[in-house]
Amino acid sequence: MKKLIIMSIMTLAGLAVSAQPQVIAHRGFHATDGSARNSIAALEKAQKLGVFGSECDVNLSKDGEVLVVHGDWHPKRGEEGAVHVQRETAETIRAIKLENGETMPTLDQYLATAKKDPATKLIIEIKKHATPARETEIVEAVVKKVAEYGLQEHVEYIAFRPFVCMEIKRLAPEGTKIAYLNGDYTPEYVKGMGLTGIDYKFSVLKKHPKWIKQAQKLGLTVNVWTVNEEEDLRWVIEQGVDYITTDNPVLAKKLIAEMCK
Ligand code: MG
Repeated sequence: MKKLIIMSIMTLAGLAVSAQPQVIAHRGFHATDGSARNSIAALEKAQKLGVFGSECDVNLSKDGEVLVVHGDWHPKRGEEGAVHVQRETAETIRAIKLENGETMPTLDQYLATAKKDPATKLIIEIKKHATPARETEIVEAVVKKVAEYGLQEHVEYIAFRPFVCMEIKRLAPEGTKIAYLNGDYTPEYVKGMGLTGIDYKFSVLKKHPKWIKQAQKLGLTVNVWTVNEEEDLRWVIEQGVDYITTDNPVLAKKLIAEMCK
């Protein structure tokens, strides 16, 4: 009898985590030899690992080049020689190498690499810029480049700024996936914006766990960032989120395989 009860509990627990979240490598798979955040190597290593998606950040340089870099400062604010990536030319910014010795990729280079293995989606985060005009400019440039590479089906977008989300919606093809990052709107509001998902910070979903099912009922996807610790990964897997954005894609994959049979 005891065995039967235990088996029943295990079955129920199994059902509770039947939905299998997909893994997104935050800034690519960077926490490994020869890699660096937002590098070409990080994208290639994410592709090789076989994750659902590889996330990257894009900023517009002063002279209009779309660069794959987190910003606002590169390498980091306060570091010797650090530059503000939206106020300098691409040449000046790219003269500063990434931690793995790579030259900072342009979005063109990133898309060319993404195209080699489109099974791993590219999740592009378009950063905040100084003015709405600059934000429109970068959204136009990114959407155009993604189309040039024929990657519309393989790219999803995320942004903190509602205006940036709405510009992506206006300019990208119908059906493009766009998720809102800032964590301050209810799923209902995000649905009302016409976006396709919420992509909220772990602490926001911990505070509002009901938003997960509410969003899914509305047909929105639920992504969560940046979940790295085992305990936290287990919690989001149990909650049945659709995507997990992590600096630790190897552990996330392992736990999902264990918990979602
Ligand atoms: Mg990002």
